[in-house]
Amino acid sequence: MVARTQKVAVLLPLAQLLAGAHRQLHGRFAEAFGVVDRLVVEDADRPLAGLGGGEQGEAEAVGVEAAGGGRLGAATEGAGHVEQGEPFAHMVENRDLIDVLLARAEAEGIELTTAAVTDFVSRPDGVDVTFSDGRVVEASLLVAADGARSKLRERAGIATHGWDYDQSGIVVSVGHERDHQGRAEEHFLPAGPFAILPLTGKRSSLVWTEKRSEAARIVALSEDEFHGELEQRFGLHLGEIKALDKPRAFPLGYFVARSFIAERLALVGDAAHVIHPIAGQGLNMGLKDVAALAEVIVDAARLGMDLGQADVLDRYQRWRRFDTMAMGLATNSLNFLFSNQSTLLRTVRDIGLGLVDRAPPLKSLFIRQAAGLSGEVPRLLKGEAL
Ligand SMILES: Cc1cc2nc3c(=O)[nH]c(=O)nc-3n(C[C@H](O)[C@H](O)[C@H](O)COP(=O)(O)OP(=O)(O)OC[C@H]3O[C@@H](n4cnc5c(N)ncnc54)[C@H](O)[C@@H]3O)c2cc1C
Repeated sequence: MVARTQKVAVLLPLAQLLAGAHRQLHGRFAEAFGVVDRLVVEDADRPLAGLGGGEQGEAEAVGVEAAGGGRLGAATEGAGHVEQGEPFAHMVENRDLIDVLLARAEAEGIELTTAAVTDFVSRPDGVDVTFSDGRVVEASLLVAADGARSKLRERAGIATHGWDYDQSGIVVSVGHERDHQGRAEEHFLPAGPFAILPLTGKRSSLVWTEKRSEAARIVALSEDEFHGELEQRFGLHLGEIKALDKPRAFPLGYFVARSFIAERLALVGDAAHVIHPIAGQGLNMGLKDVAALAEVIVDAARLGMDLGQADVLDRYQRWRRFDTMAMGLATNSLNFLFSNQSTLLRTVRDIGLGLVDRAPPLKSLFIRQAAGLSGEVPRLLKGEAL
């Protein structure tokens, strides 16, 4: 929320949707937000628990493996899109990310509050925002970052379009005997993708997609029974494995808000769009929204414009909505292709993966997207000052 004084008030998240979960962050995003030094885990042997190779000085990208032999990915080395020595992604634990961002906000003198926003009223010249502690703040712009079930979006009368996947993502951390070498894997099982993402030490984070009813059954299993299901899918390539926390299932869906803006209101993150986690892009897209909005606002402020005026917000919407639709289309197609038992589709998919692997421009496009370098990249995410 940008108040009249140009001070920024940030809503402290009340409860994290996926507290304790892990996120795959674009390499440059973590750096741009100034959090990399704190987030990069202190693993003496391999300071960057990145996706793929992980050794410093090598720019290897995620190896995405398709069950049945298809294989997309491998090294970005020589592909010329992610610079040498630059990991294209970081795996970070959600709570660490939140801690670091909060500490940074406090250090910058940003006012934080645990009170929820309960209501707002937009006027042509400002917006009055009511908090659960009874305070009312007058601002130029209200930024709604209140997640997929955004009450602020609802209050603004913005509809969404999309659908439910009848799939859930089971999230669990797994300890294993052997080192993962900083490498991520994604196996495309008939029910959906099964991603193994490297964490510090001999640990990985799983995002395991199943039909919704099957996911509910799996998370309700006893520890031993769950271990059996896990081992069947994870395999023993990293030695003996063990679930380190209780598995949780998150229902998966896809939707995009029909508008990212309303009078003196901008939607960012899941409040504006929710996509399938098949490519680990949801949070990254939200961060791109924030960086784009910050850029639009700062540009407007330099010109002495009112930050919440319609044409400023229009610029934000034009910028982010197209990128979001493109990513939505990509993740929907990937999920359709990879969570399908049809022999024809599986053949098409495997041929497709082979082609991508052999066609450098296509491979480059995929890796650029995964590294957050596609589309119009906001200045903040290129490491430039606003
Ligand atoms: C299984 C799974 C795996 C995923 N893996 C990845 C990944 O690897 N990489 C990736 O980039 N993304 C991933 N995602 C997507 C990612 O989790 C979401 O895109 C991201 O958490 C959205 O962040 P957000 O801040 O917009 O919303 P949320 O995380 O939902 O946060 C919204 C916050 O707003 C607070 N809030 C709500 N109402 C109010 C109010 N009225 N006033 C004040 N505060 C309020 C809530 O308490 C909450 O803390 C995954 C998602 C799933 C389901």
